[in-house]
Amino acid sequence: MKPSPFEYVAPTSMEEALAVLAGDPDETKVLAGGQSLVPMMNFRLARPERLVDINRIPGIAGTDVVADRLVIRTRTRHLALQNTSLPGPLGHLLRHAAAKVGHLPIRTRGTFGGSLAHCDAASEWCLVASLLDADITAESQARGSRTIAAADFFRSIFTTALEPDEILTSVSLPLLDDSWTAGIAEFARRAGDFGIVTATAAVQVVDGTVTEARVSLGGVGEVPFRSVAAESTMRGEAWTTDLITAAAQAAAEEVDPPSDIHGDAAYRRDLVRALLPRALGRP
Ligand SMILES: Cc1cc2nc3c(=O)[nH]c(=O)nc-3n(C[C@H](O)[C@H](O)[C@H](O)COP(=O)(O)OP(=O)(O)OC[C@H]3O[C@@H](n4cnc5c(N)ncnc54)[C@H](O)[C@@H]3O)c2cc1C
Repeated sequence: MKPSPFEYVAPTSMEEALAVLAGDPDETKVLAGGQSLVPMMNFRLARPERLVDINRIPGIAGTDVVADRLVIRTRTRHLALQNTSLPGPLGHLLRHAAAKVGHLPIRTRGTFGGSLAHCDAASEWCLVASLLDADITAESQARGSRTIAAADFFRSIFTTALEPDEILTSVSLPLLDDSWTAGIAEFARRAGDFGIVTATAAVQVVDGTVTEARVSLGGVGEVPFRSVAAESTMRGEAWTTDLITAAAQAAAEEVDPPSDIHGDAAYRRDLVRALLPRALGRP
């Protein structure tokens, strides 16, 4: 299929891009890597009258360490994060999550900001943002800049807190020091597919005791699912293999996954039980 006709605008500044969007927000879409939007347009699942391409705007790709946070600018490609030299547990998590996003051609074009704005519940970046309580910054011509907590950002399938006249400009994540362990594990039928279930986890262990625990699961609902049960099972306890097993069991009991052609609810629950320990580094 070919997309329905649309106007194409390629501004060279963020101000210009925001102005185009402000002119007709409901009929204009931001084009970042195009790896989700273009297929949707080709299938006529999306029919915007206008695309505002952000690929010629300087200064909106790359990462910065600012105090104790990593700022990821919106047009940072998946591949750049796969190749990041950021040390520590956050660098490890970003490299491993990026490597699971689609195939190499998709990773060379697709962007971190585009993934969050697209809001697929199985997206690795949506899970990382949910796991680490990301701060997500968006700008509009009318209201300037605002920051949205990840917990408020992901609303439902393909729906975020972004207003139609807003552009997601950057995302900040906490830098994790070496007391943290963070990881991701997913099961997909073929390499490069979206995971049927994906588990992300980060735990802080001090003197053998878990002081902080975060678990976010994909493929078990419309948006990334923070497993409060798994997190509270681990917090304050001795960091042992048995604890990881108990946390995985708690998460599997807590989720209420959908059934579809890729797997029924019981299967997805089993995947949660199997994958969470792997995300925490236990094979
Ligand atoms: C075969 C295939 C396999 C894939 N596998 C995976 C996978 O395993 N995991 C995964 O996470 N993804 C996967 N993807 C999707 C890919 O990661 C996309 O790159 C990503 O979902 C969207 O990023 P993008 O930059 O391409 O955004 P685009 O396609 O350009 O845009 C997507 C949506 O976000 C909006 N948008 C984009 N940027 C902004 C912005 N800065 N501000 C406001 N709105 C914005 C657009 O208007 C559009 O609605 C796959 C894609 C394909 C084609």
